[in-house]
Amino acid sequence: MNREIFIPKTINSSESVDVTPTPFGMDDFDKTVMSTYSRFPLALEKSLGCRVWDSTGKEYLDFVAGIATCTLGHAHPVMIEAVTKQIQKLHHVSNLYYIREQGELAQWLVEHSCGDRVFFCNSGAEANESAIKLVRKYSHTVLKVNNPIIITANASFHGRTIATITATGQPKYHKNFNPLVPGFHYVPYNNIGAIEAAISELDKDDCRVVAILLEPLQGEGGIHPGSITYFQKLRRICDTTGILLIFDEVQAGMGRTGKLWGYENLGVEPDIFTSAKGLGGGIPIGALISKKFCDVFEPGEHASTFGGNPFVCGVALSVCQTLERENILENVVERGVQLKTGLQSIAAKYPQYITEVRGWGLIVGMELCSKVSLSAENIVMAAMDEGLLLVTAGPKVVRFLPPLIITEEEVTIALQKLDRVITSVTR
Ligand SMILES: *Cc1c(COP(=O)(O)O)cnc(C)c1O
Repeated sequence: MNREIFIPKTINSSESVDVTPTPFGMDDFDKTVMSTYSRFPLALEKSLGCRVWDSTGKEYLDFVAGIATCTLGHAHPVMIEAVTKQIQKLHHVSNLYYIREQGELAQWLVEHSCGDRVFFCNSGAEANESAIKLVRKYSHTVLKVNNPIIITANASFHGRTIATITATGQPKYHKNFNPLVPGFHYVPYNNIGAIEAAISELDKDDCRVVAILLEPLQGEGGIHPGSITYFQKLRRICDTTGILLIFDEVQAGMGRTGKLWGYENLGVEPDIFTSAKGLGGGIPIGALISKKFCDVFEPGEHASTFGGNPFVCGVALSVCQTLERENILENVVERGVQLKTGLQSIAAKYPQYITEVRGWGLIVGMELCSKVSLSAENIVMAAMDEGLLLVTAGPKVVRFLPPLIITEEEVTIALQKLDRVITSVTR
C-alpha cells in the first residue's frame, strides 16, 4: 500500500506566518455589506495548512474548511503554483472559444465518476439549477410531460436561488420568498414507503414524477447519511419507471466521505449529479455531470459567463490530481475513523448532552440532546474561544469538516480542545 500522504512542509511551523494584529472594523463592514449572514465576531486574516489566524493574531485549528471547501487546506503549495501559473497564462476568455483546461477537467471528472459529460458553472446552487433545467427540458422534449415534478427530501439543502430554495425541503428557507417555483414535492429522507406513495399519488393527469433529487448524505440538514437499502431500492424504482435519479454531491463529493463521490458509499450510481464546494479547493466552481441525457441541451440553451473559465478549471484540475496523486482519500478514511471514535468517546462521557455521532469520512455530525438547552451554536462559540473552528448543521448538530489533509496530531488536538469545550459548557 502506498502510504505517501502529502503534507505541506511548513504546516506545523508557525514561523513563516506573520501574526501581527491587523485591527478590523466590524461596524464599518456592517455599514456597507448587506446583513445576509449572521457572522461570528471574528475576522480571519491569514492561513496555513489546517490553521487560520484572526485579526488579533489568535490561532485556530480549522475544522470548517470554508464549509467543506478547502480540501487541501490553506496556502497549499500546489494551489499557489496552479493559481500563479494559470493567471500568467490565460485566466478568462468566455465560452465563445474552446478552453483547454475546461476540457481537461471534464475529462478527469468523467474518468473518475459514472458521468459522461460535464457542464461547468460557479456554485452549488447554479449546478443544481442546471440539473433542474436539464430535467425540465428532457421532460418536455423527450417524455412529452407538461407538468414535470421533481421529488426532493425534507431537511435537504440545494442552494439559495429561487428554484433551489424551492428544491430545498426546509420551510425556513422559503419564508417570505413566495411565489416559489412549481413542480417540487417533498418526502421524508431514507423512507422508501413515503417515496413510493408520493410517486403513485402524484402521477395523474398532466403531472408526472420525472426526477428524484437527493443528497447521498444530508449535510446542512444535520449530517444524515443515506441508507444503503433505501438508495438501492430507489435505484430499482428509477430503473423500472424511467424516473431520473439526481444526486447533489455539492457537500459530500470530492473525497469528503473517504470515497471520491458520496454515492460510492451507497453502491448506486445516479443518472445526473452535481458538484461544487470541494471541487476547486476554495476557488468558485460548480459542475453538472450527466451519465445519460448528455445531449438534452442544445447550443444557446444554457450558459454561464464565468463557467469553466481557464483559471478555475486549471486550479480545480490540480486539486483533483493532488487528491489522487497523494492518496488523500486514504487519509480521509483514517482521520475519519480517528475523529469519529474520538467524538464517540467524548459523547460517552456526556451521555445526557450528546446523543449521537454520525457521518462518513471527514463529514461528521455530533447531535445534542433535545431535552437540554445546550445548542450547537453554544459549542461552536466556546470552541472558538478554545482556538477550534466548528460549524453547526441545524440547531442541535455540530458539524466537523476539516481539510482532507488534516494530520493525526491535529485531529488529536481538536478532540482535546472539544473535550475541554464540552466540560466548560456543561458545567
Ligand atoms: C452548499 C450546498 C449547496 C449550495 O452551494 P452554493 O455554492 O452555496 O450555491 C447545494 N447543495 C448542497 C448539498 C450544499 O451543501
